[in-house]
Amino acid sequence: MDTRKSLWLSTLLIALSGASLPRGAAQSSSTPFGYTSFSQQASIEEKFLAVPSAKRAGEELKTLTAEPHLAATPEDRRTTDYVAEQFRAAGLQTQIVPYRVLLNWPKVVRVQAYDSAGKLLMTGPTREHVEGDPFQDNPRVVMPFNGSSGSGDVVGDVVYANYGRPEDFKELEEHHIDVHRKIVIVRYGMNFRGVKVYLAELHGASGVLIYSDPHDDGYYKGDAYPQGPWRPETGVQRGSVQYLFKYPGDPETPGVASTPDLPDSSRISPDGNQPHILSIPISYHDAAPILKAMKGPGVPEGWQGALPFRYHLGPGGVRAHLVSQQDYQRRTIWDVIGTIPGTDLANEQVIVGNHRDAWVYGAVDPSSGTAAMLEAIHGIGALLKEGWHPRRTLVFCSWDAEEEGLIGSTEWVEQHAQEMSNAVAYFNTDVGVAGPNFTAAAVPSLKDFVRQVTQSVPSPVIGTVYQQWRQKQTGGDEHRASNAPPEEGVEVQVADLGSGSDFTPFLQHAGVPSTDVGSGGDYGVYHSAFDDYAWFVMNADPHFLYLQEMARVLGLEAIRMADADVLPYDYPAYARSVLSYLNAAEQKAAQIDGDSLDFRAVRSAADRFAAAAAKARSLQLAPPHNPEALDLSLRAVETDLLSPAGLPNRPWYKHLIYAPGEFTGYSAVVIPGINEALDAHIRSLAQQQITALTEALDRATQTLDSIH
Ligand SMILES: [Zn+2]
Repeated sequence: MDTRKSLWLSTLLIALSGASLPRGAAQSSSTPFGYTSFSQQASIEEKFLAVPSAKRAGEELKTLTAEPHLAATPEDRRTTDYVAEQFRAAGLQTQIVPYRVLLNWPKVVRVQAYDSAGKLLMTGPTREHVEGDPFQDNPRVVMPFNGSSGSGDVVGDVVYANYGRPEDFKELEEHHIDVHRKIVIVRYGMNFRGVKVYLAELHGASGVLIYSDPHDDGYYKGDAYPQGPWRPETGVQRGSVQYLFKYPGDPETPGVASTPDLPDSSRISPDGNQPHILSIPISYHDAAPILKAMKGPGVPEGWQGALPFRYHLGPGGVRAHLVSQQDYQRRTIWDVIGTIPGTDLANEQVIVGNHRDAWVYGAVDPSSGTAAMLEAIHGIGALLKEGWHPRRTLVFCSWDAEEEGLIGSTEWVEQHAQEMSNAVAYFNTDVGVAGPNFTAAAVPSLKDFVRQVTQSVPSPVIGTVYQQWRQKQTGGDEHRASNAPPEEGVEVQVADLGSGSDFTPFLQHAGVPSTDVGSGGDYGVYHSAFDDYAWFVMNADPHFLYLQEMARVLGLEAIRMADADVLPYDYPAYARSVLSYLNAAEQKAAQIDGDSLDFRAVRSAADRFAAAAAKARSLQLAPPHNPEALDLSLRAVETDLLSPAGLPNRPWYKHLIYAPGEFTGYSAVVIPGINEALDAHIRSLAQQQITALTEALDRATQTLDSIH
């Protein structure tokens, strides 16, 4: 593919020329918001930016991905010790923090399918295998399975339900196809896999096969690994089917930390966030014989994948026999937490995090993020050795068991719930580097902060990360990943925070202002055995220059937030976003229901919030006499946007502006209480949620007005 070739050439040229850091790259043309004078900080930043090394990041990646390291395994423990050792060497006060959490490991996973004459069509899962991958045959590669799957032994006719979205199940109903007691086969893509299983269960299915169609991340997109970056025939996407959109973390302890000494009597049944039916992820090698033999109506528009035959809805033609025996145990996982105490604002914490556990090797997901974080820490360690100390306390976190449901981060946030009001920012990275395209998501108050940080980091291609980001984004708003309208008056759209990574407990449970950064690309081996060092070097970042870039971005976010004169939150931007969300919701309400919903009170609350934000903004620009009091008031605004009661039917999710969609799972639904009540056509609930938001905005306004 052309883009890959030119990426390869440009990175090679840069690597050969040794031009890793353009001189003066740290000197932004204007003073970033939050600083009255930036000159001293600029020299600290320049020193920092010079340290993260592409070569060393590559070595760290190789070490982290030497073995498969599923959460709670001995190999995961080895990565724990390695990361802790790196933290300590950089001068961080380092702790390994264990939790005891419910995890399933697979004992038996089997799929067999028969045609109507009873002839065996396939037996799976087929072992993941391609020509020449050096890592694939390690006996510790875990068989494909779904975290949080049910156990069982079921037989049934097969029905195809496309992506398993609400509209897909509705379409089946319109064709009078009942999935009750059937095996539903769905393809990956468009929503979180847990939502697919949730809906299949709601519709009475007895089991689910989730397969990767070559249309979505295989040969239809480009050459498959090892010829290219896309998913090969036997590649399987493992993954959790936990009901993450209800609550993440240890399924037995919502709102409570699963510390090793937590008595079993304090744990609840995991029923509330786990499917009761079994689900099995399979490759298209294993799905093809099933789909090919299915009878029933031909699929509607948009349902045909890229396998070389016509797809049919079923039922009829194929019966499948699924066996899943899952070994559920409370197992010990390990977060690594490294702290650098602040000087004059030590009570305030700037937290940076990335998970460490992987389904298999996890070169991209998450080890590229870990390598970037370790290089950021090296840079900060070099500053510490020169006598620099951050004004605010820096906390670096290497989370465990993210893959099973954001467990390590959720338990830690739940354990430190009281201290979270002093956590002034959480900076996440997960899929640190899958290719050259920088992406970011953030709360509105930090969107401009992220843009400013990227203006100070050189791109491996030319110019700054910001310039490359802007260039690739022009002409599309595909990066928004939410139901929100695009932000007006900005060059670069920063996406909204939905879920699928460790920022969720920080923002959506505890109200900590958060960002998530990464560098994307053609990435077809997600959660397969092939997301390994060989794939990474061949496809994502051959010279580790984007690992270096991400280390610089992540480190600069931390340093700049830790040292700012005043917290650089942009509340006028927050108010504009809320107003635009309300406009969109009001239009939707009018279409659904005429004008029966009353938005007047919430609109005027949003206007008052905007006015208070503008006033606070001018005070943020003046030198503060009591920076700590000012900071804490500014910080409290995000907490004001939490609802103590939480969202309808999912009280763990408390944020009234951002949540993962109940039927999307990954992408954000903005003002979720209102929008989801509208989508469900429950007018009274929508009106009640409008009132909850009005009260939250009034709290935020009052907090901003208290600043002098
Ligand atoms: Zn991940």
